[in-house]
Amino acid sequence: MLESIKGLVVTLKAMTQSKITVEYPKQHLPIQPRFMGFPALTWDEARDEPFCTGCMVCVRYCPTQCMSATMADNPKFADGESHRRKIIDQFEINLGRCILCGICVDVCNFDAIEMSFEHELGARGRNDNRVDLAQLLEMGTQYQAQSGWEQSKPNGLSPNEKSIRDAAIKTADSTRIESSEPQDVR
Ligand code: SF4
Ligand code: SF4
Repeated sequence: MLESIKGLVVTLKAMTQSKITVEYPKQHLPIQPRFMGFPALTWDEARDEPFCTGCMVCVRYCPTQCMSATMADNPKFADGESHRRKIIDQFEINLGRCILCGICVDVCNFDAIEMSFEHELGARGRNDNRVDLAQLLEMGTQYQAQSGWEQSKPNGLSPNEKSIRDAAIKTADSTRIESSEPQDVR
């Protein structure tokens, strides 16, 4: 009898405590400012084009080789509207293979890629987690709006940032998966 009463008291206590969990996926906890979700491409409002020039540095250093990119001549450069001679033409990330390491962000010289708040991944098909340039830019502009993002490297990397980037590159070199087909992101 005494044990039953003790059990009842524990139950009543638990019922009056405030909830610390939420009913996912109906409810979501707020995203913390330094949360690192999937990488996304940023948008240069001033020139109305992506920051990404398609330089391929991030593609080369991605340890899981889940990225691919191609560059094109930037027509806005010829018109004098942009300082970027080259601009991203196609970009794809297979988010199903991304390990959220952030190396792509560290090695980018142009503020063109950020770890966004996007973190939910659910797909039925093998290739349904691939996101293209338009989707990456949409994720990026959403992140820029939500986080109050500001360009941090308008003149390229500072010496300190360069040393951080070099360390990231060394880490990437040591963790890179050897592959005979480095651009195959399937
Ligand atoms: S976060 Fe890491 S694994 Fe994901 S795309 Fe960037 S470099 Fe590749
Ligand atoms: S995101 Fe940065 S490092 Fe990657 S291709 Fe674009 S400009 Fe180059």
